[in-house]
Amino acid sequence: MKIEFTPQEEEFRKEISTWLKENLSGKFSSVMGRGGSGDQTGLFSERVKWEQHMGANGWTCISWPKEYGGREASINEQVIFYEEYTRAGGPGRVGHIGETLAGPTILSFGTKDQKERFLPKIRLGQEYWCQGYSEPSAGSDLSAVQTKAELINGKWKINGQKIWTSLAQESDWIFILCRTTPKSKGRDGLSYILAPMDQKGITVRPIKQMTGESEFNEVFFDDAEANANDLIGEVGKGWQVAMGTLGFERGASTLGQQMAFEQEFETVLAIAKENGKSNDPLIRNQISEAWIGLKIMRYNALRMLSNNEDGILSREAMLSKLYWATWHRNLGKLAMDVLGMESEIGEEGNYNLSELQKLFLFTRADTIYAGTNQIQRNIISERALGMPKEPRGNSSS
Ligand SMILES: Cc1cc2nc3c(=O)[nH]c(=O)nc-3n(C[C@H](O)[C@H](O)[C@H](O)COP(=O)(O)OP(=O)(O)OC[C@H]3O[C@@H](n4cnc5c(N)ncnc54)[C@H](O)[C@@H]3O)c2cc1C
Repeated sequence: MKIEFTPQEEEFRKEISTWLKENLSGKFSSVMGRGGSGDQTGLFSERVKWEQHMGANGWTCISWPKEYGGREASINEQVIFYEEYTRAGGPGRVGHIGETLAGPTILSFGTKDQKERFLPKIRLGQEYWCQGYSEPSAGSDLSAVQTKAELINGKWKINGQKIWTSLAQESDWIFILCRTTPKSKGRDGLSYILAPMDQKGITVRPIKQMTGESEFNEVFFDDAEANANDLIGEVGKGWQVAMGTLGFERGASTLGQQMAFEQEFETVLAIAKENGKSNDPLIRNQISEAWIGLKIMRYNALRMLSNNEDGILSREAMLSKLYWATWHRNLGKLAMDVLGMESEIGEEGNYNLSELQKLFLFTRADTIYAGTNQIQRNIISERALGMPKEPRGNSSS
């Protein structure tokens, strides 16, 4: 693991920081700092324009192969990119599911035709994606999915329901883990199908969250259609592809997010200094612990990224999700402790929460999505430490 940056990498830092300074201004200044925790749908259409502007200038999907418009950015360059992006106040990326989940999955498992059709539109911010995994009875035990797809006259007919689907209301495409072998159970008989969202067989119902926004949704499939060849991997072998996507989700894709944590920490620290809470020994202690956690996360991310290129979880990546999710949830709580009584008062108007109040409420979700803390501990004990597998129910094999 290399922590120092070379002169060439510092040149790269100059290039991206200059570009951001020149471009994240004027008509784009309104999106600065938007789209963070609890604000994922904030100024969405303006942020789409920003995403497209970045794409047109070669600043999206920088780790992708040059053949598909990427820069083949090294791990250090990606770190630099995210550091500078965060420092410049770059908004939460609206295309992150396409760039960090759908794209790498298509790159790893897709056909040439799929790569050519889907990757350019992700890179240019022209098409947005959502992840259709969880169902009302299949979350942690993902292999219990019941949504079905049947091949009829050259089209997949999809029926069932997904839930907690982030940004489905803004997406053009969904990747769906569904059952294509009738009566199959567990991990067998599942397929990974890509379907367009804009069709009469798909209904999206936003779920109101306690932050006040609706970042996730219910998605209903009633004879929804997908082309026969819009399937990643083989029919009935979707589990392997789905696990590849989860490898990306729990691994490399969180780097940008973790860089943004540093900015949130700085905000909390500045308030503590201003309102005198930094004199309270317990708060001081928590702030120091949070700062140490930030440094550990950064080194862990670098160590993990050095070993994780193909979506297969390294031992380091297995630790990462549990660590950052718990750290971020604690930061939300620390923010409330630093605000003190003020944390209980809303801004004027109807349920108009401050940035830190939203942070606190949204961070409760961090230890749930992309695998709950309990599931992360199971992964660490079984896969990293080789302890006996926990007993399974009937639904998974
Ligand atoms: C903000 C947010 C965004 C999300 N976005 C998406 C998305 O875009 N697409 C998508 O498909 N899903 C998404 N999800 C869903 C997420 O993946 C699931 O919520 C998660 O996998 C947990 O599943 P569940 O909610 O069904 O809870 P359950 O699996 O029912 O778990 C309930 C509780 O039981 C515990 N538990 C379950 N099994 C075990 C076990 N074997 N051992 C120990 N404890 C266990 C869990 O840790 C949890 O505390 C999102 C969730 C959130 C909060």
